[in-house]
Amino acid sequence: MLTLPDFPVRQRDFLLEISRAITSRLDLTEVLKRVLHASVVMTAGRVGLIALRNPDDQQFNVRAFTGIQQEIVPLINEKLHELMNDVPKTALHYDYIESKLTEIASSIDEGLRQSVAMPLLFDKSPMGLLIVFRSYEVEVTRNDVQILQSFADQAAIAVHNAQLYENINRERQQLRAILDYSGDGVMILDANLNILQINRSFEYMSAWRAEDAVSLHQDDVIIWANIEHNDLQDAIQQGWPQKRSESEASDTLYVEGELQRRDGMEVSIGITYAPLFNEDGKLANIIANVRDITNFRKAQEMQNVFISTVSHELRTPVTLIKGYASTLTREDAQWDMNTVKQSLEVIEEEADRLTELIEDLLTASKIQADRNIKLNLADVRLDQIAKHSLERLRVQSTRHEFVLSFQDNFPTVSGDAKLLRQVIDNLLTNAIKYSPSGGTITIGGRYSGESVTIFVRDSGEGIAEEEQRKIFERFYRIDSKLTSKTQGTGLGLYLSKAIIEAHNGNISVKSHIGHGSTFYFTIPRN
Ligand code: ADP
Repeated sequence: MLTLPDFPVRQRDFLLEISRAITSRLDLTEVLKRVLHASVVMTAGRVGLIALRNPDDQQFNVRAFTGIQQEIVPLINEKLHELMNDVPKTALHYDYIESKLTEIASSIDEGLRQSVAMPLLFDKSPMGLLIVFRSYEVEVTRNDVQILQSFADQAAIAVHNAQLYENINRERQQLRAILDYSGDGVMILDANLNILQINRSFEYMSAWRAEDAVSLHQDDVIIWANIEHNDLQDAIQQGWPQKRSESEASDTLYVEGELQRRDGMEVSIGITYAPLFNEDGKLANIIANVRDITNFRKAQEMQNVFISTVSHELRTPVTLIKGYASTLTREDAQWDMNTVKQSLEVIEEEADRLTELIEDLLTASKIQADRNIKLNLADVRLDQIAKHSLERLRVQSTRHEFVLSFQDNFPTVSGDAKLLRQVIDNLLTNAIKYSPSGGTITIGGRYSGESVTIFVRDSGEGIAEEEQRKIFERFYRIDSKLTSKTQGTGLGLYLSKAIIEAHNGNISVKSHIGHGSTFYFTIPRN
């Protein structure tokens, strides 16, 4: 045991050592060990422990100990949980607390006679408990309490620091994960527009690797092949960014255009630059959020194509209907029955075309909205549907020779007759439309135990390999002389594909430029 005059000196030495350990950022376990050692030595204890409160479940668990066998730590934890859970109910009933501490003492060692417990307080909130056990019972002096309190206070600071550090670390990891897995590109710049960091999405969009881009000026990486408005430099020259008050939304800048990637390719992107200011109100960083807007641009382009094709397709029948109707209603002319009948037939046909077009548009927009087509299933004879369609079209075109080629005993399939007729009609109409100089058009069918396959073959101009996938896209029409003088919306094959897929089937084309095309669709028999 220490003699009295040594006390203040030893206490000061210990405190110094602990605070050094804290400031030199030793890990928490090491600091707690030193606090415990100092506490036990200074109070002439035999055994000591520090329990910390877990911020998640608020339970106290032993975090450092001396003079205790590792095996009984779980038991001590259990008793500490009971003690801390009961303390609020017993309203700091000292007898109860003492009896619990005695229980803990005797579970450690029967020879322990006295315990002194001290809370680790930080900002009045209890972060843990420091307990020293003695093997003899003497009066607990004010000095004892004061010494333990000074160590407990130091321990509380260390615990608080460690928790802060852990929180910062966790937030940093979260931020890192957000950056790494964000679908948007992120680039962090310093106040001089030098790149500090880029994330994976940005690497992917720009074809720059982080190790090459970091520390370059942003203008070396963000090279615009085409830009719609001001770029970042222009905006800065014009006084961007303005510091606003904390409550206001930050003064962001949006720039959009074609980025010249490092590999020479171009990509449509939109960048939102957001400024970050330091405490003195000076610009510290700019965070650039980069979005690939290729799809958005494509959608815009498609909308334009859509508007021009649809208005063109609507105009033709409307003009015809209007023309024939005004001719018929002219008061200065007399029309014979035959002319009237023929004119009315044209009007009716064109009105049917309008209805068809509107129906196609509605179906296409429905598919786009919920990717689903409702089928009215029944037994369907595709060979019969093909035969009827062919008879109808034969009347329309005298330039083509039509051939029907179905395998005998063609089976029925379960399907939606109206929709499957629409597919067959579309394939046959296309075969006529896209082989203007005539030739043979064959529709036929083959079957196996599981499925049936229908094909429509023409001897028209054919379809280039790179167009064969695209023609099934919405509103896609091949950019060719033939297509431009042929009526159409680019919806027929898109709808056909959706209908066949709704039947769990698939549709495809085989074609060579100059050698005609064959479209196939296969659907399961059940
Ligand atoms: P539409 O005929 O109304 O333009 P489709 O979706 O039916 O629309 O066809 C899309 C495009 O595919 C057509 O514009 C045409 O360029 C091409 N195409 C379709 N069928 C044939 C064919 N049999 N031969 C050559 N090109 C075809």
